[in-house]
Amino acid sequence: MNCNWKPGTLAVQAGYEPGNGDPRVVPIAQSTTYKYDDVQTVADLFDLKRDGYFYTRLANPTVAAFERKIAALEKGVAAVATCAGQTANAMAIMNIAKAGDHIVAAAALYGGTVTLFTHTLKKIGIEITLIDTESDEAAIRAAIKPNTKAIFLEALANPALIIPDFELYVKVAHENGIPVIVDNTFPTPILCTPFDFGVDIVTHSTTKYIDGHATSIGGIVVEKGGFDWSSGRFPEFTEPDDSYHGLVYTRDFAACPFSVKLRVQLVRDYGVPQMPFNAFMSMVGCETLHVRMQRHTENALKLAEYLRNHPKVAWVRYPGLDGDPSNAMMKKYMRGASGVIVCGVKGGRAAGEKVMNSLKLAAIVVHVADVRTGVLHPASMTHRQLSDDELKAAGISPDLIRISVGIEDIEDIIADWEQALAKI
Ligand SMILES: *Cc1c(COP(=O)(O)O)cnc(C)c1O
Repeated sequence: MNCNWKPGTLAVQAGYEPGNGDPRVVPIAQSTTYKYDDVQTVADLFDLKRDGYFYTRLANPTVAAFERKIAALEKGVAAVATCAGQTANAMAIMNIAKAGDHIVAAAALYGGTVTLFTHTLKKIGIEITLIDTESDEAAIRAAIKPNTKAIFLEALANPALIIPDFELYVKVAHENGIPVIVDNTFPTPILCTPFDFGVDIVTHSTTKYIDGHATSIGGIVVEKGGFDWSSGRFPEFTEPDDSYHGLVYTRDFAACPFSVKLRVQLVRDYGVPQMPFNAFMSMVGCETLHVRMQRHTENALKLAEYLRNHPKVAWVRYPGLDGDPSNAMMKKYMRGASGVIVCGVKGGRAAGEKVMNSLKLAAIVVHVADVRTGVLHPASMTHRQLSDDELKAAGISPDLIRISVGIEDIEDIIADWEQALAKI
C-alpha cells in the first residue's frame, strides 16, 4: 500500500494485498482458531511477542484486513473492529474511564449513545455530563472535572445534523491532558478526517455508510497515535496490567497503546469482535465508499433544495444548504454534508406521519445510510426511549422526519416526495 494514495484509491485498495496466486478478493477466514506446529509459537502469540492469530475473539485475518483499510482511510495508526457501533463507542470510553471517572459529551447524539451514556455506563460508575454541542470554549472548560477522562462528540449528529466545532473541543481537552473521541459515522472518512483537526480517537458504526448496503452490523475504533497518556490521569496505560502479566501499554506498544489495550483487555474479556463475515461485507462495501458518498451528497443537496422551496414543508436542515446553521462548520471540517436530511412538514407530527406513509420509493426503516432511500420518525422510533428533555438536548423536535437519501436517480426520489406531499 502506498501511504500517499488518495482516499478513493485507499477505499478500493487498502487493507489487503494478495501475494502471488492468492485470492484477489480478501478471503473470509470463517475459522475460530489457527493451527500451529509447536507449543512455543502459541505461547509467544499469547505473550504478544509475535504477530499472528490464535483465536478469532481477539483477531482474525479478514477482520484485520478491514481494520487496516479503515485505519488507512482515517489516517490512523491502528483500528479495532467491534461487533456493533454501540460497542465501538462503549469500548472507546471504557478503555479510558472506569468507575469513579467522568466523561464530557456534546449532547447532540444518536439515541443509542444517549442511553449507553446516561443509563448503562452510569450503572458501572462512569458519570457523563452532556453539554450543548454548540458550547463556547468557557462552557466546555467549565464541564471538565479533575476525574474527566475524555470528551466525546458526534461529527455530524444523528439525527440533529449539528456539527461541533472540533478544534474548540480539542483545544480545551488537550489543555487538560485528555483525549477527544469523535463518532465519525455520518461523514465517513471520505467527507471528514477528524484526525486532521487534532482529534485522538475516531469511532464508527460501520453498519451505516461503510457497509452501505444495510447487510451487516459492525463498529470500529481508530487511534490517531501520538497522544500523551503519561500525564498521570491514565495509570492503566502506564502501569503494569495484571490481567496481562505485567504488560505496560505505553512502553510495550508505544505506537498504538490505546488499540492494543482495547483489543487485549476489552474485546478479549467482553467478547465483542466483529465477525469475519461482517468484516468481509463491510470491506467490500467500503470499496465503493468514495463513489457512494459523492452520490449521496449530491442527491441530498438536491432533495434538500426541493424541500426548502416546497410550500408544505415547515423547515429543513441539511448542513450542505447555504444558510443552514451548520453550514459554516461543514465547510470548515468536511468535504460534503453526507446523505441525511431532517425536516418537518406543515401540520406537525400527524401530517408528517401521513407523508411518511404515502412515500412509495422511500421505505420506512429503522436504518440510515444505505444505498436505498429511507425515512424514519426518531421520536417514535430510534429515539423512543429518550425523555422529552433528552429529545430536546439531542436536537430532536416531535415533528422531525429523518430522510436517508439513497443513490437512486434523484428525479425519482423527488417525484416520490412530490406525490406524498400532495396528500396533505
Ligand atoms: C447507528 C449509530 C450508532 C450505533 O451503531 P450500531 O452499529 O447500530 O450499533 C452509533 N453512532 C451513530 C452516529 C449511529 O448512527
